[in-house]
Amino acid sequence: MIDLTDRVALVTGASRGIGRAVALKLAECGARIVINYNQNAVEAEKVAEQIRSQGGQCLTVQGDVALAADVERIFQATQQGFGRVDILVNNAGVNRDTLILRMSEEDWDEVMATDLRGAFLCTKAALRSMMRQRWGRIINIGSLAGLLGNAGQANYSAAKAGLIGLTKAVAREMGSREITVNALAPGFIETDMTKDLPQSLKDEALHRIILGRPGKPEDVAAAVAFLASDEASYITGQVLAVDGGLGM
Ligand code: NAP
Repeated sequence: MIDLTDRVALVTGASRGIGRAVALKLAECGARIVINYNQNAVEAEKVAEQIRSQGGQCLTVQGDVALAADVERIFQATQQGFGRVDILVNNAGVNRDTLILRMSEEDWDEVMATDLRGAFLCTKAALRSMMRQRWGRIINIGSLAGLLGNAGQANYSAAKAGLIGLTKAVAREMGSREITVNALAPGFIETDMTKDLPQSLKDEALHRIILGRPGKPEDVAAAVAFLASDEASYITGQVLAVDGGLGM
């Protein structure tokens, strides 16, 4: 069992899907959790209730990770609540899928702002605490799209590829301080983000998944918990696909 007792973990976009599963998993491992959300206060509160009902400690903080002022507020609340941040999971993400010839500047900018700028802003803010402590774990939720490129997702693929560059650069900058920075590249995971995909696309993806099933948010959460642990202290700058072999 992974032991994260006394660690403080901030999970962005933890009201639903993968972020929710990550928050629950890290809490189960003993961490105190900051549940960030943007619009779904009710869902975020349900995650918090579940953690508290199992004896865990947590707080919820609204904030749009794309906005510097909101990120500042999220980290202030974390500092006030728990006094530090040890683990940052940059999970908040959106997609605005369409073929590039139809893609508007807004479609491009919105995805870049949440999926890439959000991770940049949160990473900078978290490092203040992590550098003082000389210990930290940053786990960026990328995507297989950032490694392979997905038709219909030029904006999303570019943002997630950018996240891999961010991961590796910050890993190099922070290596001497016991701060590791890694990325996960989930494949096809069953969440709100994928539920409205055309059935033909789902069938095609399923056909290519070596393990023969779509991923669950818990599959990604298990990998996050490992990378957040002391056991993963010699792993940095890596991209781990959690995709059932889809990208192999
Ligand atoms: P989801 O079910 O759509 O949930 C997205 C979460 O992000 C929600 O909690 C949402 O909060 C939050 N969020 C969105 N914009 C935000 C913002 N500006 N500031 C703060 N929070 C924001 O998505 P998911 O499938 O769990 O995806 C989570 C991450 O995994 C994303 O980065 C996604 O790109 C990545 N991923 C997913 C898959 C997949 O197959 N599902 C595959 C590869 C990678 P509110 O609801 O409160 O607004």
